[in-house]
Amino acid sequence: MNEPALLEVHDLVTTFPLRRGLTGAILRRPQQAVHAVDGVSLTVAKGEMVALVGESGCGKTTTAQTIMRQVDATSGSVVFEGTDVTTLSAGEMRPLRRRMQMIYQDPYESLDPRFRVRDAVIEPLVVHGLAGSKGDREAKLIDAMRRAGLTPPELYLDRYPHELSGGQRQRVAIAASLVLEPNLLVADEPVSMLDVSVRAGVLTLLDGLRSRGDMGILMITHDLSTAAHFADRIIVMYLGRIVEEGPAREVVRNPQHPYTRALLSVVPRRDPREQVTPQILVGETPNPMNIPPGCRFHPRCPVAEDRCKTIDPALVDAGADHRAACVLVGEGKP
Ligand code: SF4
Repeated sequence: MNEPALLEVHDLVTTFPLRRGLTGAILRRPQQAVHAVDGVSLTVAKGEMVALVGESGCGKTTTAQTIMRQVDATSGSVVFEGTDVTTLSAGEMRPLRRRMQMIYQDPYESLDPRFRVRDAVIEPLVVHGLAGSKGDREAKLIDAMRRAGLTPPELYLDRYPHELSGGQRQRVAIAASLVLEPNLLVADEPVSMLDVSVRAGVLTLLDGLRSRGDMGILMITHDLSTAAHFADRIIVMYLGRIVEEGPAREVVRNPQHPYTRALLSVVPRRDPREQVTPQILVGETPNPMNIPPGCRFHPRCPVAEDRCKTIDPALVDAGADHRAACVLVGEGKP
C-alpha cells in the first residue's frame, strides 16, 4: 500500500468578501468577493519538491497562506500528515505549526533586525517550548546552521541581519525553520529577492534538504525555469485555478496548456537552437472579482475558439501523469 502524502489539498477555495460600503448597502448591491483560490487540489509527498507556478495575482501565494492557516479556507480541506488543519483551533494548530514551516520571499522582513543570528535561530525553539537545556539548545542551533549551509556556524552566530548578504540572511531564515525539524517547508518565492549569483546556492540547499527523504517542499515561484530545474512536479495556476500539472520534465518538454506554453516561450534556453518565438500574452491577468465566463484564460488565449467563451474546461488526462484544463487537449490541436 502506498504511503499517504505528507500534504493533501482537496478542492481548496479561498474567497475574500469585499465590503459593500454605505452606498452599496443602501442600493442593495450584491456582495462581491475576490476568488483568490478556486478549487485547488494538490499533494506533496515526503522527499518531493512541488513547484506552484504562475504570474503574480494567480492565487499561488494565497494557496500557500491557506495551507499554512494564515488565512482561513472558504471550503475544501488541507490534510497534513493525516489531519485536516482547516478545522483545527489555534491551540490545536500549535503543535502542527512546528512541522509546517514557511520560508518567505524577503529574508530581511522575516528576521528581526535587533536579533543576532544566534537569537533569531533559537527563538522558534523558545516560542514552541522546545528550548530545553542550554546544551540542547546550542546543539540544535549548530545543527540547523550547518544544515542551512552556514558553516562554520561560529562565523555567523553573533552577527546582525544587516551584517549579512541577502543569501546569508535567507539561509538564517531557513535555519530558523530547520531548528524545529519540520516535515513540510512552504517556500514562497524563496530566491526572488536575492542576487542572481546566490540564487542557485539557496535552491540547491532546498533541493538537498528534501533529498534526505523526510521533508517535502512546496515552492511558490513565478519562474518556470527554476521550477523546471529543481522541482519533481510542476503545477501551473491561472486566476485561482490549476490549469496544468505533471512531472516537471514532462510539463516543460510537452506543455499542453496555451498559458504554460506562453510562460515557457519567454524562458531563455541554453541552446540557442532551442529558442522559440516568445508569446507575449496580451492584457493583464483579469480581475479575480470578475472572472471571465467559460475558460477563464480565453480573453488572453492566442488559440481561443468560440466555444471557449462558454466551456469551463476541467483538468483532463494528457498522458504520462500529466493533466491540463483546455478544450483542445486530446484533440491534437494545442
Ligand atoms: Fe485557450 Fe480555449 Fe484552451 Fe482556454 S479552453 S486555454 S481559451 S484554447
